[in-house]
Amino acid sequence: MTEIIRYRCEDCKDTGIVKERDGNIHTCWKCLQEGRLSQHSDKLPSHNIKI
Ligand SMILES: [Zn+2]
Repeated sequence: MTEIIRYRCEDCKDTGIVKERDGNIHTCWKCLQEGRLSQHSDKLPSHNIKI
């Protein structure tokens, strides 16, 4: 059975960095927008998680 890993952000896989198909690497706009990049810790407090 395959374990499904859920990321908070599918774009960057929670790394904060997105790699485009053409090889370009840039900051994840989605995380930037949601303020995840400012506190780049492994686990955020539960009250910061939006459902
Ligand atoms: Zn992201």
